[in-house]
Amino acid sequence: MIEHDRQARLREIDRRHVWHPFTQMRTWMREEPLIIERGEGNYLIDVNGNRYLDGVSSLWCNVHGHRKRELDEALLAQAGRIAHSTMLGLTNAPAVELADALLAIAPRGLARVFYSDSGAEAVEAAVRIAAQYWGLKGKTRRTRFLTLNGSYHGDTLGSVSLGYSEQFHRHLRPLLFGVTKIDPPHVFRFHHGLSRAAALERSLAQAREIIREAGPELAALVIEPIMQGAAGMWDHPAAYLREIARLAREAGALIIADEVATGFGRTGRMFAVEHAELSPDLMCLGKGITGGYLPLAATLATEEVFAAFLGEPDEFRAFYYGHTYTGNPLAAAVARANLEIFEKEAVIERIAPGIEQLARALRERIAPLPHVADVRQAGLMAGVELMRNPERGESYQVAEQVGNRVIKAARRRGVMLRPLGDVIVLMPPLSIGESELDTLLGVTMESIREIVEAA
Ligand code: PMP
Repeated sequence: MIEHDRQARLREIDRRHVWHPFTQMRTWMREEPLIIERGEGNYLIDVNGNRYLDGVSSLWCNVHGHRKRELDEALLAQAGRIAHSTMLGLTNAPAVELADALLAIAPRGLARVFYSDSGAEAVEAAVRIAAQYWGLKGKTRRTRFLTLNGSYHGDTLGSVSLGYSEQFHRHLRPLLFGVTKIDPPHVFRFHHGLSRAAALERSLAQAREIIREAGPELAALVIEPIMQGAAGMWDHPAAYLREIARLAREAGALIIADEVATGFGRTGRMFAVEHAELSPDLMCLGKGITGGYLPLAATLATEEVFAAFLGEPDEFRAFYYGHTYTGNPLAAAVARANLEIFEKEAVIERIAPGIEQLARALRERIAPLPHVADVRQAGLMAGVELMRNPERGESYQVAEQVGNRVIKAARRRGVMLRPLGDVIVLMPPLSIGESELDTLLGVTMESIREIVEAA
């Protein structure tokens, strides 16, 4: 617990000088900032010693809990050797070992690891690899990217182009490139009133038509497999993923799987593409790659894609992209230890009962609540959508801030959440125990009830 004066000073400086991401700072500056000082297992601990269950894995990245002994030790051991050296013209042991370990668990065909520092950069790199790949192949017409409506791929300009949102990005429009979009089979948003099977058929029919038209110009399909996270937790069946990937491949396009949110066990498999036995040409990893410890990301590529970049220096075929901290040894060492824990603790097998527990509670305790319009889940990723009138599809007003009020109510009960609009996101660390998950669900239920009854 830090002393009172220091705490007051931190609050004051934060209010006066810190600019928080994705935050309306006027609202923020009116409120008391909660300052996290420590973590322990699946809990965050604030400067006053209050404990909060980390219900969204610290923005979807924590995997085995905080202060995981093996990860702490890997970090310290690497710090005793070297914290950073560059991957441009040099290499380092942890980054090399991690590449080997990643490819051992990655879908078949992926053979090269390109490092960066955030999920957005992993996608940015994939987009640029795809664009340059087609250029190098002399297929200069293949410049279009196909994405799903509502998809989110990060906040660099290339990634924002893929996931353009009028509300968030309208001022950036002149800086962005256009993409071709298809509607995912998300019943609630695009196919209201249809069965899941009918929605799937309708989405596939649209995809067939659009891919047929755009086919010769398509560079790549970019997709968050199985669950579109930031859209508001929109799941799609493996059959959809399998079929649009097949259509895109048939049209000659590359497949880019953005597994930044879904990777490392989130959906119940190591990678979400496994649900559809899909081997993408490029796969983007971030978030959970270091167990949620340090900023590291990777873009995995097939040897076929990689080979197109080979040539003599005066041919200028190299991939001219990189960042200062690319392949950082501290992050790579922790990521390596993270993968060892997956194996040693059989994490993927171990989370199956928790996924079932979550499914049952969502069905029996959360879905029947008033104003719960829709409940969606893939593995340990779930979204609970709240509406003023679910039958009529009538949303709450943005000004009502219903989602935010629910998470504040949960915070008062010792659970840390973060909503996506009026979708309450549940995304606990994979290490969450049975009784902790029960607490998470019980608090979510009580908090929803408290707020929607007043709204
Ligand atoms: N892709 C997906 C699917 C994501 O969910 C996110 C982050 N929520 C990103 C990319 C961007 O990752 P980062 O915030 O690390 O840049």
